[in-house]
Amino acid sequence: MSKINFAGIVDYSSLDFPGHVCAVIYLCGCPYRCPWCQNADVALSKSETCKPKEIFEIIENLKENFIIDSVTITGGEPLMQNETYELCQKIKSETNLLLKIDHNGFYPEILQNFLPLLDFVSVDIKAPFNEKYKISTQRNDWKNVVEKVKKTCEILSLWNKKKEARTTAVPTLIDEDEIVEIAKAINKYKFSFYTLNEFRAERTLDEKFQSITPYSYEKMLNLGKIAKQHLDNIDVYVVTSKKGKEKI
Ligand code: SF4
Repeated sequence: MSKINFAGIVDYSSLDFPGHVCAVIYLCGCPYRCPWCQNADVALSKSETCKPKEIFEIIENLKENFIIDSVTITGGEPLMQNETYELCQKIKSETNLLLKIDHNGFYPEILQNFLPLLDFVSVDIKAPFNEKYKISTQRNDWKNVVEKVKKTCEILSLWNKKKEARTTAVPTLIDEDEIVEIAKAINKYKFSFYTLNEFRAERTLDEKFQSITPYSYEKMLNLGKIAKQHLDNIDVYVVTSKKGKEKI
């Protein structure tokens, strides 16, 4: 029996897997330290939040859930734990649920192995592919990180299922110039869609980010339109606290 470092499960979400109703599984640990992270206890694998959990218990929980048609595995970074593969295998072999993984782009080779099990991958593009990735991930080896994220994008460009690129529009880090750089950089990877998420200032990993005011709804729409101008045949969505998810 395998255990996985687990923070919890949300039984029902209509937001995390577009077009489907999913359960959301939170797995612990992350190789990044994004200063705006709102799941710091999960990312840092704090013992009060994260506990070993039998994989079969998670599967039983999913089997007893008659509302959902899909599962999203998020974190933290789901691909950081070896046991995530067994969890995904069991979801696919023991249930009929569609399976999505939220990924931060740091494990391209591991992701490649997971793809036969997956129906949808959402990958973070934290910043333009330059040293802004250092601020965003707080990793000194940011060049290495950028290469891994690019490799992840390349792998997904050859995968014919649903794939999303997404960026959190963090004021002070991401503005019009950065959105142009990101959109130009990812255009060739042919994502199914690109999503721009509003920054939220609550419970951030770096407390200084709690004093940053999120962009206005109008600013978010404008950033979405700018992204759209540089993305060929890729749908762009903006997610705001005011109106939820909107297609640009
Ligand atoms: S926001 Fe950053 S630090 Fe937090 S879980 Fe996601 S990738 Fe990890």
